[in-house]
Amino acid sequence: MTSDSLLFNCRQCGDCCRGYGGTYVSEEDIRRIAAYIGEDPARFQERYCQMAGRRPVLAQAANGYCVFFDELCTIHPVKPRMCRRWPFIDAVRVDIQNWKSMGASCPGIRTDLPDDVVREKIAPLIDKEGVDE
Ligand code: SF4
Ligand code: SF4
Repeated sequence: MTSDSLLFNCRQCGDCCRGYGGTYVSEEDIRRIAAYIGEDPARFQERYCQMAGRRPVLAQAANGYCVFFDELCTIHPVKPRMCRRWPFIDAVRVDIQNWKSMGASCPGIRTDLPDDVVREKIAPLIDKEGVDE
């Protein structure tokens, strides 16, 4: 069993694509997604993003899901960095309690492991992905 599967196995439930604070998109994310769907980046931001403070997040559809969710992620090859990295994010290293909080809304996250095991196994996975923007 790899550390990835020890700590996390996605159940494809789609819960992380609904509600929950929004999915931040960087300029690079916007450029990649806009190109993928054949949209101009500025127009993409107007049509598919909302502002959360000073940062753009992907907009939600009326059903509460991300505008790009339709049973599955419809932009999977170019989905935002935040979606690609989940759940191996710096916030877990900063505070291990975040792992359990995230697990409350993501059934793929194992929350029954001791904190020190999660800490040890997750560190190289976060490093592999690089630090948050
Ligand atoms: S909530 Fe977790 S288990 Fe469900 S689709 Fe998202 S990452 Fe996978
Ligand atoms: S971009 Fe894809 S993976 Fe990310 S929240 Fe939207 S539908 Fe889900």
